[in-house]
Amino acid sequence: MRPLPFREVVVAPESVRHALTQMLLRPSPPQGLLLVGMAGVGKRTLARALAAAWMCPQRTAEGHCGACEVCLKWSDASEHPDLRVLRPDPEQIKIDAVRGVRQWASFAPTVAPVRFVLLEEAHLLNPAAANALLKTLEEPPPRYHFLLTAPASDLLLQTILSRCRIVRLGALPTEQIAAHLRARYTLPEATLQAIAVFADGALGRAIRWADALQQGEGAPRELDALQSLLGVFARLGGASLEDALRLAHEFREACKALEGGAEGRSARAALALGLEYLVLWYRDALALQYPDSPVRFETHRDALRQLAGRFAAAERARDLHAIIEARRAILGNANAQIVTENLFVRLIATA
Ligand SMILES: [Zn+2]
Repeated sequence: MRPLPFREVVVAPESVRHALTQMLLRPSPPQGLLLVGMAGVGKRTLARALAAAWMCPQRTAEGHCGACEVCLKWSDASEHPDLRVLRPDPEQIKIDAVRGVRQWASFAPTVAPVRFVLLEEAHLLNPAAANALLKTLEEPPPRYHFLLTAPASDLLLQTILSRCRIVRLGALPTEQIAAHLRARYTLPEATLQAIAVFADGALGRAIRWADALQQGEGAPRELDALQSLLGVFARLGGASLEDALRLAHEFREACKALEGGAEGRSARAALALGLEYLVLWYRDALALQYPDSPVRFETHRDALRQLAGRFAAAERARDLHAIIEARRAILGNANAQIVTENLFVRLIATA
């Protein structure tokens, strides 16, 4: 797909859209811009829309014009002679890739007034590659700009962060996603609700699933995997310590089905996503204490109540923190089996 014009990219929260609009109105883009947000929230779509806008000599606050000499060079696969994309191969971005960019940067742009280097999942730069990138950011070649994406800013070197503008993308509320789907698909309301809940703020993901179901391709593999994950989580409230390693194993197996897919998820990214859902599960268990707070996994209310009844609220809050730490460790290259086993032992042992 060619880059969407900025005005058509769904960006949340509204303050971020406003800040980006202001940036587009300035004469030149920032030297480095880091887009932070969880998987599926639209970082890649937004990065391409921004690159296309800044490369277009006729851009407006709404994005690129789509018709000029520069815009016409975009291929259907969103490639452009003045854009370079670096992404993990498959688990790291290596120094050769960064060196290749430095070499490319010794040439002037082909048609656009500026060139862009897009580093997807920049937290997966290996140390040598990160240092090479830092050198380039310290002495940027003229008319070269960098766009980086990452799930969290603290996974990047401080020295790289200090050279980037940081933009934090938020998740869309479930109801906003449901409304978006309702306007475009004729699927049953219960299905739309389930998709909106599981999309967890990521509209791109919701649209992909709804497309597959609408076209009669059956339930997407990811949606099935998420149902299996909830099956694992639902047993936490009644599990004994002997079950911990088995549950950790089943958790990792369910996450395997989240690998690849349209988002090209790595094994680590799939595990991190699984842990994000576990965070949501624990948030729900905490939310049960407050009569009016919405529960995301409404269909699993009994299992959530069991978990809430077994562990004191303070413990669940600490467990929530442990899950977030485990996710961070996995994205930071820790051994996935050890991290998940330790986590599940902890979650069950605090009973
Ligand atoms: Zn244009």
